[in-house]
Amino acid sequence: MTVWVGTSWKMNKSLAEAKRYAAELLEGLDQRELGAVQPFIIPPATALSAVAGVLDGDGRVLLGAQNAHWEDSGAWTGEVSVPQVADAGAQLVEIGHSERRAHFAETDETVRRKVAAALRHGLTPLLCVGEPADVKDAGRSSGFILQQADRALDGLSPEQLSRVLIAYEPIWAIGEAGRAADAEELRGPFADLGGAYGDRVAGLLYGGSVAPDNASELLGIPHVDGLFVGRAAWQVEGYLHLLDIAAETAGTRSPARPGHSSH
Ligand code: PEP
Repeated sequence: MTVWVGTSWKMNKSLAEAKRYAAELLEGLDQRELGAVQPFIIPPATALSAVAGVLDGDGRVLLGAQNAHWEDSGAWTGEVSVPQVADAGAQLVEIGHSERRAHFAETDETVRRKVAAALRHGLTPLLCVGEPADVKDAGRSSGFILQQADRALDGLSPEQLSRVLIAYEPIWAIGEAGRAADAEELRGPFADLGGAYGDRVAGLLYGGSVAPDNASELLGIPHVDGLFVGRAAWQVEGYLHLLDIAAETAGTRSPARPGHSSH
């Protein structure tokens, strides 16, 4: 079973920094055996093509975009489309991150359209879902994230659904203002997300203050198929460290769950 470990760099890194990271990542991978672990990196749009050039079809690392519009082209100033990010080398598109929902007016409907656009062009949608602190405090985490997922994935065929990755990223756990979740807090939401989608999608990932000291425990939560990382992977050494932890943890995991697709 694939264990996904990826990082979005958000609005960070110059072209030179992005290229250096990619080159050092490949060098680091030369020295490692990652087994079932599938790395992916998501640079800012400005660096996609340059990073693709460094990866040069290497195949060990998937490349993603942080966002893409639902239309293929047109009068959408400032946006980039799925065909454009694919042209720049992206194989995956992050969709519906809570920062985009909060600051760029993304709705369940635009997220749904973007997921459909990614699938239409053969890219892997990485759908982000996650609840704010007040929803968690009210005990409604699972209902909230399931509603986000249901709305984003509405109308997809089983085959389309099987190409989707879902990242559960509680808003209270991500970024500078976040606090690391206790594994116990995540078991319920993952049980519910896993019950609804675990066997039907390509993987369920966890994101939010992932770090070397909690990565292994997080990967041990039932239905967690991978990690989506911000700050702890912005330096390539940090990312390689997390890949090592994931490879070690994956080596001790039981084989694929019955009915769960392997990749
Ligand atoms: C994120 O913002 O999606 C994220 C996972 O960030 P961090 O790992 O820095 O909490």
